[in-house]
Amino acid sequence: MSQSQVQARAGGTAGAQTGHSAVKSTGEALAASLDATLAKIDTLEERLIAIADAIPGRVTFSTSLGLEDQAVLHAMATTGRAFDIFTLDTGRHFPETLETLEASELRYAPLKIRVVFPDAADVEMLVARDGIMGFRQSIEARKACCDVRKVRPLNKALKGATGWITGMRRDQSAGRAHVPFASWDAEHELVKLNPIADWSLETLDAYIEKNAVPVNPLHARGFPSIGCQPCTRAIRPGEDIRAGRWWWENEDGKECGLHNRPKPKEAHA
Ligand code: SF4
Repeated sequence: MSQSQVQARAGGTAGAQTGHSAVKSTGEALAASLDATLAKIDTLEERLIAIADAIPGRVTFSTSLGLEDQAVLHAMATTGRAFDIFTLDTGRHFPETLETLEASELRYAPLKIRVVFPDAADVEMLVARDGIMGFRQSIEARKACCDVRKVRPLNKALKGATGWITGMRRDQSAGRAHVPFASWDAEHELVKLNPIADWSLETLDAYIEKNAVPVNPLHARGFPSIGCQPCTRAIRPGEDIRAGRWWWENEDGKECGLHNRPKPKEAHA
């Protein structure tokens, strides 16, 4: 969030606070206010409008083209507000995911989804060092691959943004149980927003069906959570919906670095 945006949001009273501390305190206050506001709003569309109206500057939405993000995309297209929408192309996606990207742009035109790629030199160095399937060697190697193909491109895409919308939900996994509606992301210096944090899978499915939202055909084949093709499998009945991601690892390490795990107390911040 820029200094001028901070001044504007604070009514020009940032006073003696300067630089990062003013940005942080104003961003934290804005996030806390939005967290309370969004909890009182019923519809996704109205939540997105509240976000767009409350946050100055570029509000960006990172979509993985999964079920949750497709619901957010659909709602976004109806708001009349401008959002910067992007997806990360890791180079290892299922073909069905890329088809979903095209189907979404056709459905919601003129809305566009910016495609952000990893740095080619970084990928070449990674593959030269670890091999084309090097992410299977160890958790460290897997995280190195996610860092090059996801985290660094994400950081590039978020640079200069003031708000970051995601489709995270609390009941997606134990690690996401405390996802708030809004929080201050100190690493990226922006307000992170999860407008469907409180949605159940049933609510999500009903929204998708009612609005005939285009979805990845892999969902119907047992893939509730879809990432890169070599690191995603279908789940078995009764398994956690993220059990098909990096299934050879412990539950504790199973995030790709895009999202830090909110602690219980942050849920009430
Ligand atoms: S999910 Fe797998 S292939 Fe994709 S970036 Fe991470 S380790 Fe690499």
